[in-house]
Amino acid sequence: MAPSYVREARRRVGPKRERIGPIVERLAVEHADAKIALTFRTDLELLVSVMLSAQTTDVNVNRVTEQLFEKYRRPEDYLAVPQEELERDIYQTGFFRQKAKALRGTARVLLEEFDGVVPRELDELLRLPGVARKTANVVAAELGRPQGVVVDTHVRRLSQRLGLTKQDDPVRIERDLIRLVPRADWGRFPHLLIWHGRRVCIARRPLCEECVLADLCPASRVMPERPGHGAPTGRAAPSA
Ligand code: SF4
Repeated sequence: MAPSYVREARRRVGPKRERIGPIVERLAVEHADAKIALTFRTDLELLVSVMLSAQTTDVNVNRVTEQLFEKYRRPEDYLAVPQEELERDIYQTGFFRQKAKALRGTARVLLEEFDGVVPRELDELLRLPGVARKTANVVAAELGRPQGVVVDTHVRRLSQRLGLTKQDDPVRIERDLIRLVPRADWGRFPHLLIWHGRRVCIARRPLCEECVLADLCPASRVMPERPGHGAPTGRAAPSA
């Protein structure tokens, strides 16, 4: 977009502080079923699933963990087998050597420093080997203690398109979103953007004509005639 169009588009939609409330509300109606797509039963399974989800799809992780979690139930179990065996068991998630090393390192620290229990604080989660900020944010939010905003590829793209940030770096984007999004919504906001990104605001072909945010979005390709363009539809779950 040329600079003059960008300015005009931003003027049309108004300040982001006034838009963030309606954006969250409309997405919450549109994607009432938005939640984490990983399958887990325990805090440890959540942590392992999120660690395995790097560079692959949630569907693929779920396929692998269905059997994995029958064999590995406690942190001790990840240390009871040779690393090569664990690598074979998670091979299909990709980057299996790094992931197996991270899982075993995390299991060791969980046992040595946290009595085998997955911590809930972000700074504690970040002490686990192979657990970076995004993983820690996802786990903390799922455990009911969101302490930041998860920024993945969808959150990054939609935050930029919606004019909520001008940054490109995930840490800086998160900083902008933390200032903007009400704390009570830190947990669900990324899920709403992720599901909107999968269903409507698709990377290469955003469906602006179907989007409930069209009148709030400076990147919209349609000129909505009325606020709330496109009624919430209650969409079917996408494949992750
Ligand atoms: S209006 Fe278009 S670009 Fe903006 S959020 Fe909706 S689909 Fe994405």
